[in-house]
Amino acid sequence: MSTKGFNSFEIAQAQFDKVAALLDLDAGTREFLRWPMREYAFSIPVRMDDGRVKVFRGFRVQHNDARGPSKGGIRFHPQETVDTVRALSMWMTWKCAVVDIPLGGGKGGVICDPHNLSAREQEKICRGWVRQLVRNVGPVQDVPAPDVMTNAQHMLWMLDEFEALQGGRYPGFITGKPVGMGGSLGRTEATGYGVVFTLREALREHGVAVESTRASVQGFGNVSQYAIRLYQQLGGKVICVSSWDQKDQASYSFKRNSGVDMDELAGITDAFGGIDKEKAKKLGYEVLPGDAWIEQPVEILLPCALENQITPETVKKVHAAVKFVAEGANGPTTTEADVVLKDRGIYLIPDFLANAGGVTCSYFEQVQCNMNYYWEKDEVLGKLDSKMTSAFLAVSELARERKLYMRDAAYVIAINRVAQACKDRGWV
Ligand code: GLU
Repeated sequence: MSTKGFNSFEIAQAQFDKVAALLDLDAGTREFLRWPMREYAFSIPVRMDDGRVKVFRGFRVQHNDARGPSKGGIRFHPQETVDTVRALSMWMTWKCAVVDIPLGGGKGGVICDPHNLSAREQEKICRGWVRQLVRNVGPVQDVPAPDVMTNAQHMLWMLDEFEALQGGRYPGFITGKPVGMGGSLGRTEATGYGVVFTLREALREHGVAVESTRASVQGFGNVSQYAIRLYQQLGGKVICVSSWDQKDQASYSFKRNSGVDMDELAGITDAFGGIDKEKAKKLGYEVLPGDAWIEQPVEILLPCALENQITPETVKKVHAAVKFVAEGANGPTTTEADVVLKDRGIYLIPDFLANAGGVTCSYFEQVQCNMNYYWEKDEVLGKLDSKMTSAFLAVSELARERKLYMRDAAYVIAINRVAQACKDRGWV
């Protein structure tokens, strides 16, 4: 979505251009990689529960498939735009490349607000999305997954529609499926856990004990909730989280100096991560304005909500105590704000590295589907940990050697891999 006047695609292209210049990429490759290879925009007519037909706009953008089928989630959001989907598809290309899995980058979306849709209406949107794209997606072309406001149930409806149209069983069409229906154990936890695996390594490299740190988190959806759980299991303390309040159409921050209790909060949160304000107050949480999460006196900030949240305006509020930022969301930091974080010497774990745990587990899900043999949860999470840790170590080593900002170092590795694949295929 075009939040607060920022265009995510322009930001993604600017990040790419900066590193492409550093890498001395030839003009043809540069032009090829700064735009998606394919884009689809379409209408999904749905007969609503009240009998009227409503038309939803849907998108799928395939940024690059040189290293394997396009891969990436589908977002349901009322402010979705094609430019945001373009940016997110590009970030998926770099994400799959930086963790070195054999997949390309894609992203999809539908302009809709699931808060206001019945389960039946959401099912119709999912099936309609697949009907529009059935010839352009699939296990060997483009493999969708969950993202903002979509979940395993949405994936299963999409799979069912795809299989009905194809006349066969194709569990590799989509990932993030329910466990028992081709899904992988650990997929729900994977993105949030992955954020913390990289954070744990960053702290270790700096000789900082997790137990000595405190964190403040933006968002209370799937990524945030599992990141908080693992970080607290490792001994850290989260003192503030923010969440979206659908009724007020605003976000609030919830603060408790003794630390947030995940089981307690999960009991007063809706399916979209909206925390009930009144119940939270009764449990001893201070309810503060939405941006308060960013000004907390903590060592670690975890933006785990949406894009364009750390802006030239909000970055001014980042407390002097902050030393680490791990981007659980895709594209949470705007270009100017990124420069401020860098100049302040804050150690950044960039989005497409920090949050690559989700797609890495999606890749494991594909592998398990292909074998038709499913691993235990510990096995999945162990493999996830080692993949995330080696990707992090490769990026941090390059950053150290070449004195690069972590975001740029991650880009160097990812762009080199993708550019090489395009070259080897004879495309550029
Ligand atoms: N939506 C997640 C992401 O942004 C996961 C994508 C996937 O599993 O394909 O990384």
